[in-house]
Parts: sequence; structure tokens; C-alpha cells
Amino acid sequence: MIRALVSAVLLCGPALGQEPLQRYRDEWTVMATVLDVSVYRTDATTAAADLQAAHAEIAALDRRMSLYRADSELVALNASDHGAPVSLSEPMAEVLSAAREFTQLSGGAFDITVMPLVDVWGFYHVSRASVPEARLIESARTRVGPGMWSLVGNSVVLKSGARFDLGGIAKGFAVDRALASLRARGVTAALVNLGGTIGVLGARPDAQPWAIGIDHPRTQKLMGRIKLWRGAVATSGDNDRYFEINGVRYAHIIDPRTGQPVRNIASLTVIAPTATAADALSTAAFVLGPEQGLALLRAYPGAGGVAVTSTAVTRTENRDQAFEVELE
Ligand code: AMP
Ligand code: MG
Repeated sequence: MIRALVSAVLLCGPALGQEPLQRYRDEWTVMATVLDVSVYRTDATTAAADLQAAHAEIAALDRRMSLYRADSELVALNASDHGAPVSLSEPMAEVLSAAREFTQLSGGAFDITVMPLVDVWGFYHVSRASVPEARLIESARTRVGPGMWSLVGNSVVLKSGARFDLGGIAKGFAVDRALASLRARGVTAALVNLGGTIGVLGARPDAQPWAIGIDHPRTQKLMGRIKLWRGAVATSGDNDRYFEINGVRYAHIIDPRTGQPVRNIASLTVIAPTATAADALSTAAFVLGPEQGLALLRAYPGAGGVAVTSTAVTRTENRDQAFEVELE
């Protein structure tokens, strides 16, 4: 898990005759997690409106992209007439096109068509999860893969049986959209933390980098820090949703190429220029494993990361001016 390390209230030296920028913060539950937004403003009324706007943006995306809302655009899309083009809202078209890009980049490790597999393994209601029969996994696998859908302008065509799960990318996308809405409102410095997917806007008024803590996935103790001047951070882990049978942990991220939950990696933290990229890349690199996953991050401009397994912590070297990772 990652968290924003922040001081209680941060004041910075105002220019003569100007009000100081102050940090304002609020918290909500949305997208089945905690949304924590901070903005720096000189007055509380404007800040309160900014915070509400960021929350409203994310709540609206949740209404579109949730699999848990009977009336979401995503649920309608999954239930639509497969084979015929379905027209998409602007954010849905954008997130699908980003998802497509990360599927290609990761050689299919990141794949939003993974839904039939997540379903068969029971991860939508983890209390009902169990190891499925092999024939059910095989049958689900025939409905998973990048060939199951195509984007045509602002429409999507799904092949029979294909269903999307945006759980690996929607939080990052939502963080980017919330930051864009804050920027459009004239906010010059902000941090949006949606359940550990964190994006920042502008520089902190004290000119210090934003500080993000990395917790160890097993001990939950702070194992490192990320100094972030710009960009975003996301973590994929085997702690979020999992079940255990005979000492084996089965967690919610599935390798679409094998149909099996990913094993032998506990967490993968990614720093990237956008939260969408950090979110999708962390899921992708988690599937690929520490070695190939970190190689994927090294090849992606402005990205880096840290992988934790039961035996080792591995990382990319610091080489980007946007961030610095310091491990304990
Ligand atoms: P994250 O925590 O961002 O890594 O996202 C994990 C969630 O994405 C899971 O709970 C599933 O809903 C979905 N998912 C599982 N496996 C994959 C995969 N290989 N590619 C894309 N999404 C996945
Ligand atoms: Mg992700």
C-alpha cells in the first residue's frame, strides 16, 4: 500500500501583501475505496469548492465505470448486443483506448477483457472465492484476449462473450481527471489519493517534492519513500482481495495468458507521468513479475518502480528528474 506523507498544515512564505497558501483537505468513500484530496489555496471557500469538484469528477466516473452498479455504462456495455457497435461516452472511449495501448505495451499481461476469469475465480465477492474447475477456467479463457474487441471511432465492438473489467485502470484514470478538473479551476498545487493511486498537480508551495510512503505489503511498515516532483504513483498487490487454501494465496490479479491468479509477487509500485499509466503499468508489471515487470518500466518513458516478493525487494534505478525512490 502507498500513502501520501503530508504535514498537517503547510504554510509557505507569501509575497508581501499576499495571503499565504494553505493546505485544505477532504476525504470521501468512492470507487470502493477512500478518496483523499488536498489543494493549496489562499481561502477556504474556494478550496472547499475545488475539493467538491474533484470528488464530483471521480463519483461521476465511478457511476460510468463500476461493475457493481446495475446502471453503469460499463454494465450496459457488457450486457449489450455483442457484434454491433456500441457508442461510448467520451471518458469511456478514452479509458478503453488507454487500456488498449497498455495491453499492447505489456504483450497482453494487462487486459481488461480478463473479467470472465476474475468472475470464475470468484474475486468479485471474495468470500465466495474458490479454486475453479479447470474446464471453467478454460472456458473463460476462450472469452479473454485483445482480439475480443475493437474500437471504431467512439464506438466499441465486442465479440460474443467478451466483458470488460476496468479495475486495473479506472482509479488512475479518475485521478488524472480529478487533477485536470482542479487545474481547470486554477488550482496550482494539489494531491489526489484514490485508495493509494496518487497523482500530483504542480509544485508544493514550500518547493519540497511531494512525499509518498511505500508500505511493505506484509509487515505494513514503511519500507521506503518516493519524492515526487510531478506525475503519479500506483501499487498493485496481493493484499487487496485474496483467499487462501492450503497455505496458497490466490489474489485478484490474473495472468490472462494462463488464466491463473499471479503468484510469487506481493506488490509492485510504479511511478509514471500520469496516474492512468501508473495504474495500468502496475497491474501489467505485477503480472509480468519482478524481472520482466521492471524491464517494462525501464522501457516506459518517465517510469520506474519497486517490486516486493517474499524473498527480495528489487527496483529500477533513479534516472528521472520527476521522482526519486529511497528504500530503507
Ligand atoms: P490493480 O489493483 O490496479 O492492479 O487492479 C486489479 C484489478 O484489475 C483486479 O481486481 C481485477 O478487477 C482487474 N484485473 C485482474 N487481472 C487483470 C489483468 N491481468 N489486466 C487488467 N486488469 C486486471
Ligand atoms: Mg492497476
